[in-house]
Amino acid sequence: MLEKKQFYIDGAWVAPSAGRELAVIDPSTEQACAVISLGDDADADRAVAAAKRAFGSWSRTEPAERLRLVERLLEIYKRRAPDMAKAISLEMGAPIDMALTNQVGAGAYHITNFITAFKDFQFLRPLGPHAPNDRIQMDAIGVVGLITPWNWPMNQVTLKVVPALLAGCTMVLKPSEIAPLSSMLFAEYVDEAGFPKGVFNLVNGDGAGVGTRLSSHPDIEMISFTGSTRAGIAISKVAAESLKRVVLELGGKGANIVFADADPTAVKRGVLHCFNNTGQSCNAPTRMLVERTIYDRAVEEAKAVAEQVVVDTAHKPGKHIGPLASETQFRKVQDLIQKGIDEGARLVTGGVGRPNGQNQGYFVRPTVFADVNNGMTIAREEIFGPVLSIIPFDNEEQAIEIANDTPYGLTNYVQSNDGEKRNRVALRLRSGMVEMNGNPRGPGAPFGGVKASGRAREGGVWGIEEFLEPKAISGWGSQG
Ligand code: NAD
Repeated sequence: MLEKKQFYIDGAWVAPSAGRELAVIDPSTEQACAVISLGDDADADRAVAAAKRAFGSWSRTEPAERLRLVERLLEIYKRRAPDMAKAISLEMGAPIDMALTNQVGAGAYHITNFITAFKDFQFLRPLGPHAPNDRIQMDAIGVVGLITPWNWPMNQVTLKVVPALLAGCTMVLKPSEIAPLSSMLFAEYVDEAGFPKGVFNLVNGDGAGVGTRLSSHPDIEMISFTGSTRAGIAISKVAAESLKRVVLELGGKGANIVFADADPTAVKRGVLHCFNNTGQSCNAPTRMLVERTIYDRAVEEAKAVAEQVVVDTAHKPGKHIGPLASETQFRKVQDLIQKGIDEGARLVTGGVGRPNGQNQGYFVRPTVFADVNNGMTIAREEIFGPVLSIIPFDNEEQAIEIANDTPYGLTNYVQSNDGEKRNRVALRLRSGMVEMNGNPRGPGAPFGGVKASGRAREGGVWGIEEFLEPKAISGWGSQG
C-alpha cells in the first residue's frame, strides 16, 4: 500500500500538523491502495502563508519566464504520462488505456492550449484610440485556492493550476480526497520543473476541513472550484465574508437533440458519449431527445449499443468502461436507477445491481431508460453514472423547450444534417457550450456553463483571464 501522507508546501514535502489518515480505495477491488493525510486548518494556513510570501516576486516575473517553466512542466507531464495514467486508474477507476489517452491526454491538451493562448497574451493593453493616455493592466488576482473533484482529475487540475501559474498567481491546490494520488504526482512534476518555492502548494483534505478553510481564508483572493452544486453553494456562502472571487464549474444535465435528419451514427455516438468515463462527466449528454418519427428505431439502437458496452476492471487494457469512483457514487447511482423505475420510465436495458459475473468493485450496468418525462428525477438530477434517459419530441420548438427546462446549463448537443436548423437551435439553447454533429470544441474554446452549472469559463484565453483583474490607468506617460 502506498504511503502518501505528506503535503507539498513551500517547495518541500512536509509532514501534516496532526494528520488524520484516510485510505484511498481502488474502486475496481474495493481495497485500500494508499493512505493519505487529511489536513487541518494549520496545514491550510501554512500553505496559504507560503503562497502569500511567494506572490510578490512571482507576480512580477517576466511572462516569458513563467511560460518557460510551464513549457518545462508540459515536457515532464508528457514524459511521465504512464505513471499518471496508473495513478488515475487506481484512484478513480478509469480503465488504464482510457486513463492514458483521455484522462492524461486531456491535461496535456489543456496545457498546450494555454501555452498557445499565452504567447499572444497582452498584460498591458491600450483602452482604444479614443483614449490614447489610458492603459489597462491585467493584474494577477493574488493567492488562489483551487478545489478539484475526482472524475477527471488531471483535466481539472491543469485547467486551474496552469492558467493560475501563467497569470502570475500563487496557489494552494486541494484535490479530491477520493482521488488525490494524481495530484500528488503532479506536484512532483511542478517540483521537477523548478518553480520557485511557495508558488504551488498542495494540501490534502476534505471539504469540511481544508476546503472550508481555504474558502474562508482572508489571504485567499479567489477560489476556483469544480464539483457538485451542493459544494459550490457552500463555498460561495463561506467565501462571501471575505468577498473573494468564486469561480464555479458545477454539474450538468446535457440534452442531446437528435432530429430525424441526423446522420446514421448519431444515436450510437450519443450513447457512447454518455457512458464515457462510466458516465462521470459534468458535460455528459444524459438526456437524449429524439424526434418522434425515428423514436422507436433510436430506442432499439441505443439498447443494442448499451448492451455491447463491456464493464470491467480498470487495470485491464481495452475499450471497456470501469467502475464508478466510490461506494457513495455506487449507492447514489443505484438509488437513481431504482427511482427511474419507480417513477414509471421504461427500463430498456441495464438496471439495478452489478453486471453479471461481478460481485466486487463499484461496477454498474450500462442503463437506458425510454419514455422518460422531463419532470422525472432521472431527467432532472445529475446521475454521474452510465445511465441514459431518452425523451421523445415532436418539433423543433418543443425540443428547445425540453432542453432548456433544467436547472443546469453546461453543454447541449444537436444532431441534424440541416445546417440552418442546427444553428437556429444552438443560438436558443441556454448553456455555456453547444456541440453539434459530433464536432468537439476547438482548442482554446471556453469551457463552462450557466445557471446551476456555475459560471466559470476555463481553458484558453478565458481561462487565463479568470485569474486576472483589469486595472484602468489614465494619464499614461507618452513616449519622448
Ligand atoms: P464534491 O463537490 O463534494 O467534491 C468536489 C471537491 O470539493 C472535493 O475536493 C471536495 O473535498 C470539495 N468539497 C466538498 N465540499 C466542500 C465544501 N463544503 N467546501 C469546500 N470544498 C468542498 O463532489 P463529490 O461529493 O465528490 O460528488 C458529488 C456529486 O457532485 C457527484 O455525484 C456529481 O454529481 C457532482 N460532481 C460534479 C463534477 C463536475 O465536474 N461538475 C465533478 C465531481 C462531482
